[in-house]
Amino acid sequence: MNIIIMGPPGSGKGTQSQLLCEKFGFRHLSTGEVLRAAVKAQTELGNKAQAIMQSGALVPDGLVVQMVSDWMAADSDAKGVIFDGFPRTVLQAKAMENLALSPDALIHLDTPHDVIIKRLSGRRIHLDSGRIYHLEYNPPAREGVDDVTGEPLVQREDDRPESIEKRLQAYQEQTEPVLHYYSASGRHLPLLTLTGAGAADAVGDQLADFIHGLRQASA
Ligand code: AMP
Repeated sequence: MNIIIMGPPGSGKGTQSQLLCEKFGFRHLSTGEVLRAAVKAQTELGNKAQAIMQSGALVPDGLVVQMVSDWMAADSDAKGVIFDGFPRTVLQAKAMENLALSPDALIHLDTPHDVIIKRLSGRRIHLDSGRIYHLEYNPPAREGVDDVTGEPLVQREDDRPESIEKRLQAYQEQTEPVLHYYSASGRHLPLLTLTGAGAADAVGDQLADFIHGLRQASA
């Protein structure tokens, strides 16, 4: 089962994807995380993507689609994948179908602007694992370090105010059309829209109910 989780930056896609993977055994493909790992490792892809990501713009479709195709080929799993941050353009949605990765459901975390700004500015991450913290809502046990490894937490370059507006603009202009693409396609893709503004646990419970329902329907 392939599930797409969509929403603006700061809507909680990463946090919810992690919860769903723990609960249901999905694999988690966060294209943002794969790109950050490539930047850190200074691969050819990482070097091409670094400045674009820092600015808050989207990485070109061709690079991202190739990256997803490689990721899928490296490790395939029958339980399915949570696609977090992909597809982010209509072209990527079409490419996904060409890779025989048609989605089985779409989760849309609709989240108000003020919540997004608060979340992004307080977010800190552990770079190697992708674990996500927040200075106020989800602080680590010891200030500034990851609970599991004790390594330092960092602020993402693109969580700084100058990049945030650009990311929101990219979402509106390039990613929201993906929602219309699916609703207009006549595929009757199961869609759950809910506000990502709630507490992580409460949102997680609603998503888990949705997935249980999908599994029962397909059993
Ligand atoms: P995220 O961690 O999902 O917020 O992604 C961080 C950044 O990585 C985005 O602002 C983009 O620059 C880049 N990125 C992640 N996923 C994609 C994608 N599917 N298409 C293009 N750029 C992406």
